[in-house]
Amino acid sequence: MAGRATDRMVNRLMKTYGGRAAPVVAMLLACVLALSSCASGAGTMGGGVGEAASGGAAGAAADTATDSAAPYEDVGFAMGTVVNQTIYMRGESVTPAAVAAEIIGILEGVESKWLSWRVGDSDIAAINRAAGTGVPARVADETAAYIDDALRIAEDSGGAFDPTIGKLSRLWDFDSGKNEIPDSAEIKRLTKDVGYAGIRLNGRSVLLEKASGIDLGAAGKGIGCDEIEAYLSGVEGVRGALVNVGGSSILAYGEKGTGEPWKVAVLDPRDAAGFLGAVSLDGTHHVSTSGDYERYFETGGKRYHHILDPKTGYPADSGLMSVTVVAKNGLGCDALSTACFVLGYEKSLPLLAKHGAEGIFVDTDRRVFLTDGIKDRFTLMADGYDLANGGGIQ
Ligand code: AMP
Ligand code: MG
Repeated sequence: MAGRATDRMVNRLMKTYGGRAAPVVAMLLACVLALSSCASGAGTMGGGVGEAASGGAAGAAADTATDSAAPYEDVGFAMGTVVNQTIYMRGESVTPAAVAAEIIGILEGVESKWLSWRVGDSDIAAINRAAGTGVPARVADETAAYIDDALRIAEDSGGAFDPTIGKLSRLWDFDSGKNEIPDSAEIKRLTKDVGYAGIRLNGRSVLLEKASGIDLGAAGKGIGCDEIEAYLSGVEGVRGALVNVGGSSILAYGEKGTGEPWKVAVLDPRDAAGFLGAVSLDGTHHVSTSGDYERYFETGGKRYHHILDPKTGYPADSGLMSVTVVAKNGLGCDALSTACFVLGYEKSLPLLAKHGAEGIFVDTDRRVFLTDGIKDRFTLMADGYDLANGGGIQ
């Protein structure tokens, strides 16, 4: 069903990254399937990414309009996840392979130089080492600017998104696979130190007042997409690109060679290989999803997932399985999806409106709620879900 293009991508990925790629191949397949299906029309399965984008009815019709309708496809690995790229070129001032490689390099740089708490000489690691000592860390202009933007979302969301969650998220350690609920006294102790108001930002100097830790994991892929957008806007030869970072943050940049809108897949929160639907977008947009299915374990019949409520120190419990946000800015989009997941549907509406963003909310009763601005852009495709508040293309 995925087609030869998908097989080729998976083979290449396995060859390039070997065992490291194994946990993400299922996710990659889901993304590839979703995008190929969306590109070939709602509800129509079949055809790989390449076929759907350059051949078939839609692609063939548009081929006559431009010589760049056929996209370049690339699968790489950065920020600990699979990165799918579909690039539409115009002219030959640069090769698409060079553009794709540059994009992977940008994501690697964002992670290792600025954001990773794991990489010892990143800016965030330096801030965290100095946390609670009263000595500020000096960071890159970019890191300072991104912390400033993150603080704004923290404030606007009333702390539902809080970048000082670092020590708490390491305590839960969803990446380790140990799948244990941490000691409740320890959760309580670390939760006391969470609070974005304890970040003192002064130019390039950052001081974390309490012995907490900054974790920009909730906004990092979005920041990566912002950097990619800035790079692409300076590359004359790129007409458009769809860059999918791990399925949870997607940049739809410019326009397709076919002139059609982008169709961005939204994953099904309860089917790792399926998709909930697709969003149709004209021009440059960012799309980010936060879900309780990304990293979680179950014990005693309850799901414990990686999106924490900074007020309780426990996984957020607002009745949602996933939130997808569409916005004009990557960091905002990514941080808002996390904030909205913590807040729940109703409380998220003013926050999204303030940031000019739209949202697709899926609750645990499989009801899909759409904000007004996205009702005529979203197509529900998965069985077993209902559009709860009207709208949507059926
Ligand atoms: P996302 O998948 O974008 O919602 O980001 C989730 C990641 O952000 C987690 O793996 C944590 O590292 C971190 N995180 C979890 N809860 C929060 C929160 N309430 N605010 C900020 N970051 C969080
Ligand atoms: Mg996020």
